[in-house]
Amino acid sequence: AAKNSGKNTYCFFHPDMQDKVNQRLQLEKELRNALVHDHLGLVYQPQFNFNQQLLGYEALVRWHHPEQGVISPQDFIPLAEETGLIAQIGSQVLTKACQQWVAWHRAGKNVPHISVNISPKQFSSPGFVDLVSGIVESTKVDPRHIILEITEGLIVQNVKGIIEKMHALKQLGLRFSIDDFGTGYSSLSYLTRLPIDQLKIDKTFVVNLGINDNDAVIVETIIGMSKHLKLDLIAEGVETWEQLEHLYRCGCDGFQGYYFSKPLNRDDI
Ligand code: C2E
Ligand code: MG
Ligand code: MG
Ligand code: MG
Repeated sequence: AAKNSGKNTYCFFHPDMQDKVNQRLQLEKELRNALVHDHLGLVYQPQFNFNQQLLGYEALVRWHHPEQGVISPQDFIPLAEETGLIAQIGSQVLTKACQQWVAWHRAGKNVPHISVNISPKQFSSPGFVDLVSGIVESTKVDPRHIILEITEGLIVQNVKGIIEKMHALKQLGLRFSIDDFGTGYSSLSYLTRLPIDQLKIDKTFVVNLGINDNDAVIVETIIGMSKHLKLDLIAEGVETWEQLEHLYRCGCDGFQGYYFSKPLNRDDI
């Protein structure tokens, strides 16, 4: 409640706040509806090395809203997390990504991997390992070609439990990547303890290459670290030749961003 927002007024619930609440309730209702009517789809953004060889794709969810058109994940994933709908969304997303890999594989297209974003809530839910294992079985995907992208935000508590879960999933054949690396505030010490295979340099550092020297230092540090720990590396948000060249010169040889390609519909790939 905003105390003294006017002169002597106590404003506990401003009409604007009521609007916000109504909007959220409406969005939640529509999101449930989207799940039922299969209005969530995936786009795929390719990842390349410096020689323009395809390394894989990242699957990114899109909501095809009947009236509002395409809604980006930033505008509904947070709500999905708060309402618990992320469990169903996440399971649909993973299923679709696995089915896509199988479809490409059967069509003779060599796709080294598809990366799938896993939100902390989703990963932490009790049945997650069984869920993934069920999807792997039902889609018949070769799990060695699926990378689960997690964020540092996951690792704030119960590190032991998280590591156990990761090992169980690695046992199934899946791999792990840390998304948006460098933006979280978790300790670096966990890095060596987690069974991860890849780091993704966050685009906020990439965009500042050539502009902010501090961010260039962070990028170089992450690249050095990935080499020492023998982790694959993808720089996200690469938009210009200058950024690409800078990253490559520093030893990074995995890229994703508009310089190469936007996320694409399956049929445009
Ligand atoms: P992310 O996983 O870090 O994905 C990268 C985001 O950067 C994507 O935004 C992508 O479209 C965008 N991007 C790619 N290249 C460039 C570039 O060159 N410049 C700039 N400025 N941006 C670029 P998108 O698709 O809107 O997704 C936003 C975030 O939403 C993702 O960030 C991820 O955290 C989340 N997300 C997306 N799909 C899913 C999903 O299926 N499940 C969950 N839990 N989260 C998802
Ligand atoms: Mg990602
Ligand atoms: Mg990212
Ligand atoms: Mg992100």
